[in-house]
Amino acid sequence: MIDEKLVTIFDQLVRRNAGEVEFHQAVREVMECLGSVIAKHPDYLDQALIERICEPERQIIFRVPWVDDKGQVTINRGFRVQFNSALGPYKGGIRFHPSVNLSIIKFLGFEQTLKNALTGLPIGGGKGGSDFDPKGRSDGEVMRFCQSFMTELHRHIGEYTDVPAGDIGVGGREIGYMFGQYKRLTNRYEAGVLTGKGLHYGGSRARTEATGYGNTYFVQAMLGTRNQSFDGKKVVVSGSGNVAVYTVEKVQSFGGKVIAVSDSSGYVVDEAGIDLELMKEVKEVRRGRIADYVRLKGEGRSAHFVAVGEDSIWNVPCDVAMPSATQNELTGKDARALLSNGVVAVGEGANMPCTPEAMRIFQEAGVMFAPGKAANAGGVATSALEMQQNASRDSWTFEQTETRLASIMRNIHDICADTAEEYGAPGNYVLGANIGGFIRVADTMRSLGVI
Ligand code: NAP
Repeated sequence: MIDEKLVTIFDQLVRRNAGEVEFHQAVREVMECLGSVIAKHPDYLDQALIERICEPERQIIFRVPWVDDKGQVTINRGFRVQFNSALGPYKGGIRFHPSVNLSIIKFLGFEQTLKNALTGLPIGGGKGGSDFDPKGRSDGEVMRFCQSFMTELHRHIGEYTDVPAGDIGVGGREIGYMFGQYKRLTNRYEAGVLTGKGLHYGGSRARTEATGYGNTYFVQAMLGTRNQSFDGKKVVVSGSGNVAVYTVEKVQSFGGKVIAVSDSSGYVVDEAGIDLELMKEVKEVRRGRIADYVRLKGEGRSAHFVAVGEDSIWNVPCDVAMPSATQNELTGKDARALLSNGVVAVGEGANMPCTPEAMRIFQEAGVMFAPGKAANAGGVATSALEMQQNASRDSWTFEQTETRLASIMRNIHDICADTAEEYGAPGNYVLGANIGGFIRVADTMRSLGVI
C-alpha cells in the first residue's frame, strides 16, 4: 500500500507517463516502502524531492538507420534516459532487444539510480537501448547497427557525463564496436566513456563475471543470516546469458548444484548438475540456443529440454531460485509452485524479474528474498572500478577486483538488512534496498539545491 501522503505524487506520475506500465511498477514498489521514511522524516516531502527523483533529468530518443546484409535500409529506435546525476555521471547499461520501449528504459533507469546509490560509489543512474534484435544477425550487421547507434549517442555521453555499459543483447562484441565508433567520431581515446570493454583496451578483470558472482555473494550472505549456505543446495537459474553463466559458475564454487537454466525458447534440466563448460560453449562460443546443450551432451544423458509454453522452469523443484533473464519472468503462479516445492531463498539476478504478486507471496511465506536493485549491483559496481582503473591508467588483477566486489556486495547486504531493521521490518531486503538507495540520493539532491 502507498502511504496516503504519497498517493497524489504516484497518481500524478501515472497520469504524466500514461501507459508506461513497467515504469509505474518500479516506482510503485519504491513508493510502497517510503511511508515509514516520511513518517520519521517528513522533510523528505519538501522541495518536491520525491517528484524530482521520479522524473528523469533528460530523455533522448533517436532514429538508428543502418543497412543489412541484403542492402536493405532498416530503421530502429534508440533511447538513452539520463535519470539522475546527483551522485556522479549517469551510469547504466544499453539493452538491444525487440521489446525495448521508453517505459522499459525508464523503469531500468529509475532502478539503476537507487542501485548505484547502494554501491556507495560516485555514480548516477541512466539506461539506454534499442528495439534492435541482434539474434540471427551477422557480425557485419551488428557492427553497422552499433556504429549507427553510437553516431547519435556520442553527442550525449562522456567519461564525466554519462558512461554506458552492456545489458541484454549487449556484450563485449557490441561494446567494442561502439567504443571504436566513439573514438573515431571524437578523435579521443577516452577509455572511461564505456565499461565492459575488452581487457586489451581498458576493460576490467572480473567485470564479465561481476553481476552473477555478485548476486551469488549476496544470496550467500542472506543465507548466512539463517546459518545456511549454498553447500548441497539445488539451484535453478533462469536465462543463459552473461548474468546466468557466472551465477552458475559461482554457485558451483560455493558447493551448490545448479540443475536448470533457460533461454527464451525453453529450459534445460540436468539432474547431474549443469556442465558449465558446455553451457559456455553453447552460449558464449557458438552463440547457440540452450536446446543445443542437450544435443551436445547426448540425449538421455541426465539432461532434457522443455520448450517454452510446455512448462515453466519454476516448476523444477529447488532450494534457491535465481531469476536472471528479464523483467516479470517469475509470476505469482510460479512463486506458489516454488513455495510448494520448498524454496528457501530467491536472488534476483535480472532487473525486476519477479512480479509484485510473486514478491508478496515470497515475503509473506518468509522466503529470503534478495531484490535485483541490491543483489545484481555487482556489475555496475565493477564498472565503477573499471572507471577508476581507466582514470588512473591502472589495471588490477582478477583477485584484487573480485575482493573489492565481494566486499561491496557484503556492504550492500548489510545496508539493506540494517535499514530494514531500522524501519521496523527486519529481514525485508526490498524495503531495506529501496529506503537505503532513496536516502542517499535524496540527501545528496537536497545538498545540491533545486536542480
Ligand atoms: P544477456 O546476456 O543478453 O542474456 C539474457 C538472457 O535472458 C538470455 O538467455 C535470453 O534468452 C534471456 N531472455 C532475455 N529476454 C527474455 C525474454 N523476454 N523472455 C525469456 N528469456 C529472455 O543479458 P544479461 O546481461 O545476462 O542480462 C540479464 C538480466 O540481468 C537483465 O534483466 C539485465 O537487465 C540484468 N542485469 C544485467 C547486468 C549485466 O552486467 N549484464 C547487470 C545488472 C542486471 P534469449 O537469448 O533466448 O533471448
